[in-house]
Amino acid sequence: MKHSNRIDVVIIGAGIAGLVLAALLAKHSENLRIKILESNKSSITWSKSIFDKRVYAISRSSQVVFDYLGIWQDIISRRISPYRKMQIFNDSESRINFGTLNFESSEIGEPDLGNIVEDSLIKERLFNLLERLGNVSIDFNQKIELIENKDKYIEISTSSGDKFRSGLLVGADGVNSSVRSLSSIAIKRHLFDQYSIVTNIITEKPHNETAYQFFLENGPLAFLPLKDNRVSIVLSTSKEQAIHLYESSEKYFCKLLTGFSNKLLGNVLSCDSKKYFPLCSFNAKRYFVNRTVLVGDAAHSVHPLAGQGINMGITDVVILSSILKKSLSAGLDIGELRILREYQRESRSNNIKYIFAINSLYDIFKQSSNRSKLIKSLGMFTLNRSSYAKNILMSMALGNRRDAKFNFF
Ligand SMILES: Cc1cc2nc3c(=O)[nH]c(=O)nc-3n(C[C@H](O)[C@H](O)[C@H](O)COP(=O)(O)OP(=O)(O)OC[C@H]3O[C@@H](n4cnc5c(N)ncnc54)[C@H](O)[C@@H]3O)c2cc1C
Repeated sequence: MKHSNRIDVVIIGAGIAGLVLAALLAKHSENLRIKILESNKSSITWSKSIFDKRVYAISRSSQVVFDYLGIWQDIISRRISPYRKMQIFNDSESRINFGTLNFESSEIGEPDLGNIVEDSLIKERLFNLLERLGNVSIDFNQKIELIENKDKYIEISTSSGDKFRSGLLVGADGVNSSVRSLSSIAIKRHLFDQYSIVTNIITEKPHNETAYQFFLENGPLAFLPLKDNRVSIVLSTSKEQAIHLYESSEKYFCKLLTGFSNKLLGNVLSCDSKKYFPLCSFNAKRYFVNRTVLVGDAAHSVHPLAGQGINMGITDVVILSSILKKSLSAGLDIGELRILREYQRESRSNNIKYIFAINSLYDIFKQSSNRSKLIKSLGMFTLNRSSYAKNILMSMALGNRRDAKFNFF
């Protein structure tokens, strides 16, 4: 059994939330010793010739964080796809339909509504940055198994038999967080039984840098614009249909997407291989226990229909890193409960707003009776004519840069 030297912060999980947190902490405090433990076997590299199927709609607030870390220009120079417009369609098969919701970045004086960026590109740039930062080390193939609170420090044991002592443990280990379960932190679940299929397609007509969302009978379908006239799709549906579609032929799937999108971009000509993910929506009842905090999907998860999951996770780590920075300069022990409580107060209240909005949107569009279809259509009709309400929605999607938490750097 190996016993490593004392570390200041151990982060479990090298997803985007864990990597961004490590980078922010390392940048804020050169003397802080940070260790990331990741269960995957190695780091991730981006490929110029193959489009990653996992992409994110990166909001302006997350873009500001990447820019602060000095990796946004690297990302832009490789491949990003801005979207300047968004169109939302209510159940294309419904006869009761009063049109669409249209959003345009120019209406709020912004160059775009966000950028679609590949998962592998963001992670590759973050790994590269952490290598250069010096005070962060990453151990791959390390799965956390036991957490013991020893009052002045916390001890973490992994399945490979290693032990680490740290002043603070951060669970950034995703929806099925071991840190959350080993710390007995309960979650409040919003029930829906949905899976998402993701792949990249080529369409007959250009996407014109527009993101489309179709609210279908079984769940939403998003078309997100990529470079070279490709489109990333996220189709959320029941488990049975997701498995059926995952196994279906390319020809059948393309025909189905052509129909689902009402031929808006003409025929869907081809699609890459598909991936599917189970979806869940929850918020942890608390974000901290003794010397342990949760960030990103370990703390909360939302339906991907609004493309906010990782943006919320990045906001968590911005809040946490700024509170830790302040505490370190005041000479405080960063594992103290009052510090972790401050993080929970700031981030949980911020996330509750997003979780409520996204769940409400999902619930409204899921209603399938004729009466609710009529209410939905009338609501969309009215909303589309209210520039005030639309501006609020667009600022929320952008992450509202004027929000106080972004003065935290
Ligand atoms: C289909 C789909 C589409 C989405 N689209 C968007 C979008 O457009 N925009 C957006 O903002 N969000 C989107 N999301 C949400 C987004 O994917 C998540 O919010 C985000 O990936 C969470 O990042 P994270 O770093 O918190 O966790 P994860 O990405 O899950 O990373 C967790 C890391 O921890 C590691 N790990 C897990 N368990 C252990 C353990 N026991 N020990 C050590 N390491 C461990 C994992 O290997 C992983 O590397 C989407 C989600 C889905 C399912």
